[in-house]
Amino acid sequence: MPIRILPEEVVSQIAAGEVVERPASVVKELVENSIDAGARLIRVETERGGKKRIRVSDDGRGIPSAEVELAFRRHATSKLAMTDDLSRITTLGFRGEALASIAAVSRLTCITRVEEEPVGTRLQLEGGRQVACIEDGRPPGTTIAVEDLFFNVPARRKFLRTERTERGHIDGWLTRYAMAYPEIGFTLLHDGKMVFQSPGNGRLRDVLIEVYGLEVGAAMLAIVPPERPMDVANIQVRGFVSPPSFHRANRGYITLFVNGRWVQDARLTYAVIQAYHTMLPVGRYPLAVVMVRMPPADVDVNVHPTKSEVRFRDGDQVFRAVQRAVRQTLVTQSPIPAVGQTRVGASVEWGAASEQQRGERRQRLAALRPRVTRGEEGEQFHFEFEGHTRGSSGPDEQGIPPLRVVGQIGATYIVAEGPEGMYLIDQHAAHERVLFERLLAERNRATVVSQALLEPEVVELSPQAAALLEEHLDALSRLGFQIEPFGGHTMRVRAMPTIVAQAGVTPLQVLEDVAADIEAHQQPLSGDVEEIVARRVCKQAAIKAGQVLTTVEMQEMLRALELCLNPRTCPHGRPTMIHMSVAQLAREFGRSE
Ligand code: ADP
Ligand code: MG
Repeated sequence: MPIRILPEEVVSQIAAGEVVERPASVVKELVENSIDAGARLIRVETERGGKKRIRVSDDGRGIPSAEVELAFRRHATSKLAMTDDLSRITTLGFRGEALASIAAVSRLTCITRVEEEPVGTRLQLEGGRQVACIEDGRPPGTTIAVEDLFFNVPARRKFLRTERTERGHIDGWLTRYAMAYPEIGFTLLHDGKMVFQSPGNGRLRDVLIEVYGLEVGAAMLAIVPPERPMDVANIQVRGFVSPPSFHRANRGYITLFVNGRWVQDARLTYAVIQAYHTMLPVGRYPLAVVMVRMPPADVDVNVHPTKSEVRFRDGDQVFRAVQRAVRQTLVTQSPIPAVGQTRVGASVEWGAASEQQRGERRQRLAALRPRVTRGEEGEQFHFEFEGHTRGSSGPDEQGIPPLRVVGQIGATYIVAEGPEGMYLIDQHAAHERVLFERLLAERNRATVVSQALLEPEVVELSPQAAALLEEHLDALSRLGFQIEPFGGHTMRVRAMPTIVAQAGVTPLQVLEDVAADIEAHQQPLSGDVEEIVARRVCKQAAIKAGQVLTTVEMQEMLRALELCLNPRTCPHGRPTMIHMSVAQLAREFGRSE
């Protein structure tokens, strides 16, 4: 074939490939534009994993009607004037390529309005060619709908993965931006169903709770600014890191941002890991969301088309700043044996036991055998200890204190006395916590006790429920369920975890609820299906409010709770107890001066 110049159309499609690789890249670029436009609310909707349609709406500045067509031209940007500006980039975009590239490979509609103009603009393009541009009304802001991605580039369309995979990539980008911009409210819908929403209240911890679930989100430690900034004064490190008791099997939960931009950087990731030196089991990695802020001139973001790689002027300094900030956070906020613990006033930090104490408690918990029996007087439960009992290692300095049962209120709350005053314990929440930690401990040692049904039971579920359970048969079996698909939407149940079986819950009840929970929790990254299942099982097995308990039963309950690693909350994050200190009581009675 003779040599020829490629038509402009083809050139633009090829270049588009660099920026627009898959639906998630479209979401990323459009969301970045919304952020740059100062949006407070950003809503992303997809259909069929983004292959059919992606729509991003914001309440940002909008594009003036005179500039809308220009925005879709290659290298058209409002964010960069001279090449010199490349060293002072404070926006996410700067190449002026995204809109043109996306438009080149889709059918795109943009509706936008700036506040200063009474009416907005609707621009439609197909494969980069303008097909309509008319006036249209809408509140200030921008909506961009991208349909039939790669309709004119079959080669690329072929490389798209399953809808599920594409959705996963979109989830990844959206949750990252939600973490980087907690002051923006992000909403994500797939096929009309809301799967993620961040509150937009400026609090990163609240976003983490949405992304990783309540248990992890609540436990994360806020990175403390270093006491003496020393030589890293103009590098600011903020964010959250997991306490050493939470860890994951890979580095994928370490998320890094530099000046509000998500980056992949092996060295900085290692800086975070290194800060946990000796604190984590071998082969385990922390969770972290680390935000680095530094002068734009000290970091080059113009390295890679997707801008997820950056180059630092002084990489060592950034490494040190991150490593130190994380290390200091761990040393000051999460007790490790080397650091002397001093008791802080009257407020007992229950959750903050030392690693050694945690280890001991874990052992004791493993030796604990809870037993629920159903007799004539209704449900009774017992905790039996193998070998040593409480007291063998003394009360924990920082654990929950030893408690003396005073009585029960409303067949729901246990009243107890401790060295620090009065404690009210929610019996259901406390029992849930005990069962939950025990079940997970058994799971970890592969010793979950299950009870075979007298006769296998066939239960009929909704198609979605059956599909979800089938997908997670492994997780279910590790927790003591023996179930198998039995044709159609039915499952045959041979055995269940002993704790639920003995609590008299039917297989249908358990499985329906478990499936509903898994579905409800199918959020991006929201880790562990087994924990979701365990939470449900323990909720159903735990004694309910309204059950009168004997003093011995209450004592056993408190003793078991003392052994828990996180005794203060139930697995769903509700408190298990309320504390009223002696000082508080004195104040209430007007005894203190
Ligand atoms: P870049 O973001 O690199 O400038 P884009 O092609 O993504 O390039 O966007 C081109 C221009 O269109 C932007 O510079 C901006 O002025 C405008 N723009 C794009 N999206 C929006 C939006 N959601 N709100 C307001 N302006 C936008
Ligand atoms: Mg852009």
